[in-house]
Amino acid sequence: QLNSEQMEYLRVFRTAGDTLLNTINDILDLSKLEAGQVILEGVEFDLRGLVENTVEVLGMRAHEKGLELNCHFAPDVPTALVGDPIRLGAVITNLLGNAIKFTEKGEVVVHVESDPEANVPGALRFRVCDTGIGIPPDKLDVIFENFVQADSSITREYGGSGLGLTISRRLVELMGGRIWVESTLGEGSTFHFTARF
Ligand code: ADP
Repeated sequence: QLNSEQMEYLRVFRTAGDTLLNTINDILDLSKLEAGQVILEGVEFDLRGLVENTVEVLGMRAHEKGLELNCHFAPDVPTALVGDPIRLGAVITNLLGNAIKFTEKGEVVVHVESDPEANVPGALRFRVCDTGIGIPPDKLDVIFENFVQADSSITREYGGSGLGLTISRRLVELMGGRIWVESTLGEGSTFHFTARF
């Protein structure tokens, strides 16, 4: 039996523990990527299952905030692929987690389609769209660099280390793709990435 003060301590310790663990994991992932020690797997996986599972895992967080969370697959997208499902899942989780974190009302949608510019089978484009706070035009490129957040109030308000997008960018490059963002301040953001499977 804990009293309310002890419960509050426990909540604070738990949040601090989770934050610390996330930060350590991000630093480890990034060092491994920078050391050139991340080698992608080439295993068979089910794309639809992977995306739907990822959306489901983050669904609770979206639901708690009253956000709509959906995913949409274009009909021509192959679902049996060969690639690295864990790394692809990490990128989608990062983008989706950010989209939910930086959106107070509206919706977050993941779109999966063939890469319209590549024109080869297995070249896909993913889009994560939100109706959140948006990103100022002069920050659209720099947020993909180590430790950069859109402004100094972000850490205070939302936490985070500013490493997630750097890790995602490097993973996407290893998957033969690129990542970029379009955004309107106060209206929302769309993160795009391509990858080859
Ligand atoms: P973190 O989320 O830990 O701060 P990231 O590298 O994932 O680090 O993101 C870097 C910064 O990019 C964030 O701090 C935020 O300023 C901005 N950002 C990322 N995703 C979004 C989004 N969906 N909407 C608004 N801003 C975003």
